[in-house]
Amino acid sequence: MKTQQHWYHNLWLWSVIYFSLGFVNILFALLGLISFCLPLLFAIFGGNKLFCNRYCDRGQLLRFFGSQLGFSRRHDIPQWMHSNGFRLGFMIFFFAMFGGILYTSWMVYLETTSLKEVITLFWCIEFPWSWAATTLVSPAVAQFAFGLYSLMLTSEFIALAAMFYYRPRTWCAFCPMGTLTQSICKRKLPTQR
Ligand code: SF4
Repeated sequence: MKTQQHWYHNLWLWSVIYFSLGFVNILFALLGLISFCLPLLFAIFGGNKLFCNRYCDRGQLLRFFGSQLGFSRRHDIPQWMHSNGFRLGFMIFFFAMFGGILYTSWMVYLETTSLKEVITLFWCIEFPWSWAATTLVSPAVAQFAFGLYSLMLTSEFIALAAMFYYRPRTWCAFCPMGTLTQSICKRKLPTQR
Protein backbone atom coordinates (compact mmCIF):
# COMPACT_ATOMS: atom_id res chain seq x y z
CA MET A 1 0.00 0.00 0.00
CA LYS A 2 1.37 3.41 -0.96
CA THR A 3 1.86 5.86 1.93
CA GLN A 4 0.22 9.23 1.55
CA GLN A 5 2.60 12.05 0.64
CA HIS A 6 2.68 15.17 2.79
CA TRP A 7 4.51 18.43 2.19
CA TYR A 8 6.93 17.67 5.03
CA HIS A 9 8.12 14.54 3.23
CA ASN A 10 9.99 16.94 0.93
CA LEU A 11 12.00 18.47 3.77
CA TRP A 12 14.89 16.18 2.85
CA LEU A 13 15.62 18.79 0.20
CA TRP A 14 16.78 21.12 2.95
CA SER A 15 19.60 18.69 3.79
CA VAL A 16 20.74 18.71 0.17
CA ILE A 17 20.52 22.51 -0.03
CA TYR A 18 22.33 22.95 3.29
CA PHE A 19 25.32 20.80 2.36
CA SER A 20 25.44 22.32 -1.14
CA LEU A 21 25.53 25.83 0.29
CA GLY A 22 28.62 24.83 2.25
CA PHE A 23 30.39 24.59 -1.11
CA VAL A 24 29.24 28.10 -2.01
CA ASN A 25 30.34 29.65 1.24
CA ILE A 26 31.15 28.00 4.54
CA LEU A 27 29.26 30.72 6.40
CA PHE A 28 25.99 29.11 5.29
CA ALA A 29 26.95 26.31 7.68
CA LEU A 30 25.67 28.54 10.47
CA LEU A 31 22.17 27.68 9.28
CA GLY A 32 22.83 24.29 10.84
CA LEU A 33 22.04 25.89 14.20
CA ILE A 34 18.40 25.63 13.12
CA SER A 35 18.77 21.85 13.27
CA PHE A 36 20.01 22.17 16.83
CA CYS A 37 17.36 24.61 18.03
CA LEU A 38 14.15 23.39 16.39
CA PRO A 39 14.00 19.90 17.94
CA LEU A 40 14.73 21.43 21.33
CA LEU A 41 11.97 24.03 20.93
CA PHE A 42 9.47 21.34 19.88
CA ALA A 43 10.44 19.18 22.87
CA ILE A 44 10.52 22.00 25.43
CA PHE A 45 7.31 23.77 24.37
CA GLY A 46 5.40 20.92 22.77
CA GLY A 47 6.64 18.06 24.95
CA ASN A 48 6.47 15.78 21.94
CA LYS A 49 8.53 14.23 19.14
CA LEU A 50 6.61 15.95 16.37
CA PHE A 51 9.83 17.38 14.97
CA CYS A 52 11.39 13.92 14.66
CA ASN A 53 8.24 12.36 13.31
CA ARG A 54 7.63 15.00 10.65
CA TYR A 55 9.85 18.02 10.31
CA CYS A 56 13.43 16.80 10.62
CA ASP A 57 15.16 17.16 7.25
CA ARG A 58 17.64 14.39 8.06
CA GLY A 59 14.90 12.03 9.17
CA GLN A 60 13.06 12.75 5.93
CA LEU A 61 16.25 12.30 3.89
CA LEU A 62 16.81 8.86 5.41
CA ARG A 63 13.17 7.96 4.83
CA PHE A 64 13.31 9.17 1.21
CA PHE A 65 16.53 7.44 0.20
CA GLY A 66 16.14 4.40 2.43
CA SER A 67 12.43 3.63 2.21
CA GLN A 68 11.13 5.44 -0.86
CA LEU A 69 14.06 4.90 -3.21
CA GLY A 70 15.00 1.57 -1.62
CA PHE A 71 18.68 2.29 -0.98
CA SER A 72 18.58 0.51 2.36
CA ARG A 73 19.68 -3.12 2.67
CA ARG A 74 17.44 -3.32 5.75
CA HIS A 75 19.61 -5.47 7.96
CA ASP A 76 18.37 -5.62 11.53
CA ILE A 77 19.70 -2.87 13.76
CA PRO A 78 22.05 -4.38 16.39
CA GLN A 79 20.66 -4.32 19.90
CA TRP A 80 23.57 -2.30 21.24
CA MET A 81 22.65 0.62 18.98
CA HIS A 82 19.34 0.87 20.83
CA SER A 83 20.89 0.50 24.26
CA ASN A 84 20.69 3.41 26.68
CA GLY A 85 24.41 3.13 27.35
CA PHE A 86 25.37 3.58 23.72
CA ARG A 87 22.83 6.33 23.08
CA LEU A 88 23.89 8.26 26.16
CA GLY A 89 27.58 7.74 25.46
CA PHE A 90 27.22 8.88 21.86
CA MET A 91 25.22 11.94 22.91
CA ILE A 92 27.90 12.92 25.43
CA PHE A 93 30.62 12.37 22.82
CA PHE A 94 28.69 14.40 20.22
CA PHE A 95 28.10 17.36 22.52
CA ALA A 96 31.68 17.18 23.75
CA MET A 97 32.74 17.58 20.12
CA PHE A 98 30.33 20.50 19.82
CA GLY A 99 31.90 21.98 22.95
CA GLY A 100 35.29 21.55 21.29
CA ILE A 101 34.09 23.63 18.35
CA LEU A 102 32.98 26.39 20.72
CA TYR A 103 36.31 26.22 22.54
CA THR A 104 38.33 26.44 19.32
CA SER A 105 36.23 29.38 18.14
CA TRP A 106 36.81 31.10 21.47
CA MET A 107 40.56 30.56 21.12
CA VAL A 108 40.41 32.18 17.69
CA TYR A 109 38.42 35.06 19.19
CA LEU A 110 41.16 35.55 21.79
CA GLU A 111 43.73 35.32 18.97
CA THR A 112 45.45 32.46 20.81
CA THR A 113 45.15 30.44 17.62
CA SER A 114 44.45 31.54 14.07
CA LEU A 115 41.55 30.60 11.80
CA LYS A 116 41.97 27.17 10.27
CA GLU A 117 40.14 26.90 6.95
CA VAL A 118 39.60 23.16 6.89
CA ILE A 119 36.70 20.74 7.10
CA THR A 120 37.40 17.88 9.49
CA LEU A 121 35.61 14.61 8.77
CA PHE A 122 35.21 11.97 11.47
CA TRP A 123 37.05 14.28 13.84
CA CYS A 124 40.47 13.53 12.33
CA ILE A 125 40.54 13.79 8.50
CA GLU A 126 41.15 17.35 7.37
CA PHE A 127 40.26 18.82 3.97
CA PRO A 128 41.30 22.34 2.94
CA TRP A 129 38.16 24.40 2.26
CA SER A 130 39.12 27.46 0.28
CA TRP A 131 35.74 28.67 -0.97
CA ALA A 132 34.88 30.77 2.04
CA ALA A 133 34.46 34.53 2.17
CA THR A 134 35.38 34.44 5.82
CA THR A 135 36.28 38.13 5.88
CA LEU A 136 32.55 38.90 6.01
CA VAL A 137 32.49 37.92 9.68
CA SER A 138 34.97 37.74 12.53
CA PRO A 139 37.48 34.84 12.35
CA ALA A 140 35.89 33.28 15.44
CA VAL A 141 32.47 33.08 13.75
CA ALA A 142 34.07 31.66 10.62
CA GLN A 143 35.90 29.06 12.75
CA PHE A 144 32.60 28.08 14.33
CA ALA A 145 31.07 27.70 10.84
CA PHE A 146 33.91 25.36 9.77
CA GLY A 147 33.44 23.30 12.92
CA LEU A 148 29.68 23.12 12.64
CA TYR A 149 29.81 22.09 8.99
CA SER A 150 32.38 19.40 9.86
CA LEU A 151 30.14 18.04 12.60
CA MET A 152 27.02 18.11 10.42
CA LEU A 153 28.79 16.46 7.48
CA THR A 154 30.37 13.76 9.64
CA SER A 155 27.07 12.88 11.27
CA GLU A 156 25.36 12.90 7.85
CA PHE A 157 27.87 10.37 6.52
CA ILE A 158 27.36 8.15 9.59
CA ALA A 159 23.58 8.42 9.17
CA LEU A 160 23.77 7.52 5.47
CA ALA A 161 26.13 4.58 6.08
CA ALA A 162 23.77 3.24 8.76
CA MET A 163 20.85 3.76 6.39
CA PHE A 164 22.51 1.85 3.57
CA TYR A 165 23.42 -1.18 5.67
CA TYR A 166 20.73 -1.27 8.33
CA ARG A 167 17.21 0.14 8.30
CA PRO A 168 16.47 3.55 6.74
CA ARG A 169 16.26 5.50 9.98
CA THR A 170 18.88 3.64 11.98
CA TRP A 171 20.65 6.91 12.79
CA CYS A 172 17.53 8.00 14.70
CA ALA A 173 18.09 5.12 17.15
CA PHE A 174 21.14 6.92 18.54
CA CYS A 175 20.88 10.47 17.16
CA PRO A 176 22.12 12.83 19.91
CA MET A 177 19.31 15.33 19.29
CA GLY A 178 16.78 12.51 19.34
CA THR A 179 18.18 11.17 22.63
CA LEU A 180 18.17 14.64 24.16
CA THR A 181 14.65 15.56 23.04
CA GLN A 182 13.33 12.18 24.13
CA SER A 183 14.62 12.73 27.64
CA ILE A 184 13.08 16.23 27.67
CA CYS A 185 9.73 14.83 26.53
CA LYS A 186 9.85 12.12 29.19
CA ARG A 187 10.41 14.73 31.85
CA LYS A 188 7.51 16.84 30.61
CA LEU A 189 5.18 13.88 30.16
CA PRO A 190 6.27 11.08 32.49
CA THR A 191 3.79 8.68 30.88
CA GLN A 192 5.19 9.26 27.36
CA ARG A 193 7.57 6.59 26.10
S1 SF4 B 1 16.24 11.36 15.83
FE1 SF4 B 1 17.60 12.97 15.04
S2 SF4 B 1 17.81 12.62 12.83
FE2 SF4 B 1 16.10 11.37 13.59
S3 SF4 B 1 14.32 12.61 13.20
FE3 SF4 B 1 14.96 13.08 15.30
S4 SF4 B 1 16.37 14.82 15.19
FE4 SF4 B 1 16.09 13.99 13.13
